[in-house]
Amino acid sequence: MSSLVWFRRDLRATDNKALFQAALEATDGLIGLFVITPQQWKSHDDADCKVKFWLDNLRELSLTLAKYRIPLRIETCDSYAEVPDVITKFAQAHHCDSLYFNREYEVHEVRRDNLVSQECESGGIAVRRFHDRVLVSPHEIKTKEGKFYSVFTPYRKVWETKVHDWAVSVGSPKKQPESGLEASEIPTQIAGFDFKDCHNDAWKPGEKAALTRLKQFSQNNIEGYSEARNIPSVDGTSFLSPYLAAGVISPRQCLNEALATEGEAAEQEGAKQWISELCWRDFYTHVMVAVPRVSMHQPFKLKTNALNWRTDSADFEAWANGQTGYPIVDAGMRQLNQTGWMHNRLRMVTAMFLTKHLLIDWRKGERYFMQKLIDGDLSANNGGWQWSASTGTDSVPYFRIFNPFSQSKRFDVEGAFIKQMCPELRRVPSAALHDPKKLSKVIEEKGLEYPDFVVDYKEGRERALAAFKSLT
Ligand SMILES: Cc1cc2nc3c(=O)[nH]c(=O)nc-3n(C[C@H](O)[C@H](O)[C@H](O)COP(=O)(O)OP(=O)(O)OC[C@H]3O[C@@H](n4cnc5c(N)ncnc54)[C@H](O)[C@@H]3O)c2cc1C
Repeated sequence: MSSLVWFRRDLRATDNKALFQAALEATDGLIGLFVITPQQWKSHDDADCKVKFWLDNLRELSLTLAKYRIPLRIETCDSYAEVPDVITKFAQAHHCDSLYFNREYEVHEVRRDNLVSQECESGGIAVRRFHDRVLVSPHEIKTKEGKFYSVFTPYRKVWETKVHDWAVSVGSPKKQPESGLEASEIPTQIAGFDFKDCHNDAWKPGEKAALTRLKQFSQNNIEGYSEARNIPSVDGTSFLSPYLAAGVISPRQCLNEALATEGEAAEQEGAKQWISELCWRDFYTHVMVAVPRVSMHQPFKLKTNALNWRTDSADFEAWANGQTGYPIVDAGMRQLNQTGWMHNRLRMVTAMFLTKHLLIDWRKGERYFMQKLIDGDLSANNGGWQWSASTGTDSVPYFRIFNPFSQSKRFDVEGAFIKQMCPELRRVPSAALHDPKKLSKVIEEKGLEYPDFVVDYKEGRERALAAFKSLT
């Protein structure tokens, strides 16, 4: 009897726990399976560029698996509801008596996986699941009272005591005997998704490309990460998020590479800060597992449900299209729309602008990001949005509202990033980009085609403060 390994967002052959164990234990060959579920992906707002990235990586994965004589097969059905049937039928047709997969933690995915497991087990197929997606399992970190941590810093302290035991990489899978089964063709199109405007060139598919990116980052950038990570005009961060979100690289590979850069004091500081970002990734998964409502359009702080959000669609469109009249906000939104990725500092600035200055519901922004991001990940996106909107766990206090002009003055001093994304502002002196009065004056004098402020900064701020204050 053969074994079956089911790939999801773990599209790599190296350091893949389920694959490694399946290959080790298989006695009569191993088959890889990926199930395409277009309607489900659509209902989850998965972005066109992200779905294209999955397909491109599946193609690479199939080639890599072939070296281990593991054929990668593709099945398609509309939604998760059909997946249990698809998998059991596939396993029976290919004489598989065991199924291996890495856990996913979102509500729909957990429900799907439980049904798959039940159906397989009742049909005599043994099921093995692994914690692979995060560094430390979300069920592992609890307070002394057995409760979940809702604040990041104490969570991280416990995480740091556990992470080394959990972060042991497993290496490459064992080569299998010849199975005679052909790998499937990976589709180039999926119904309901449009790839023609996807510009994924910055992320070459495949684990080799991801590992090269990781090496380059650890050799060239990790040392200055603590400073440079806030500057959108420089390559100060790893740009690994699309690979991490699709599982083309494992968080263990990232952690171990960062630990290996230890040496110079400054390097250590950068590596430490970067590892802390990997911990945020685990933290938001931990929050989603402990409080599943956050991934079902509910705030962590339930009382914020009573907030009187505005429903102004013109303001939302101005924000989404990068036409708010606030240069740093527009630069961030245009980066998202053009590349499918946005710098972390700008994700915070744009999210806070929507939820505070425009007082528009964070769920609208969260959805828009998901529909655009190549690295869209439910827990990180939700965590980031609820942090910015002050509705989440350990989120920014509602009265600490970022001033978009102070933000650009601090993090884009020369306006290099703003001018790159908003070419109509190229002739504006940098000082004017960080000052509303000067900006309006220069725009008028030079007759530039740049929108008026969608909202007066101070009025927007006061409106948000009043709305949040009314909840306390
Ligand atoms: C409103 C908002 C929405 C976001 N949506 C997403 C999302 O959908 N997917 C996503 O991966 N990240 C999201 N983030 C987190 C962060 O912005 C991105 O992970 C980061 O910008 C990716 O760039 P990088 O790979 O160069 O990061 P680096 O700075 O190199 O960090 C390394 C890795 O750590 C993880 N990470 C870093 N910061 C965070 C964080 N705050 N929360 C969780 N994980 C983090 C990512 O996996 C990242 O690739 C969001 C943040 C905000 C404020």
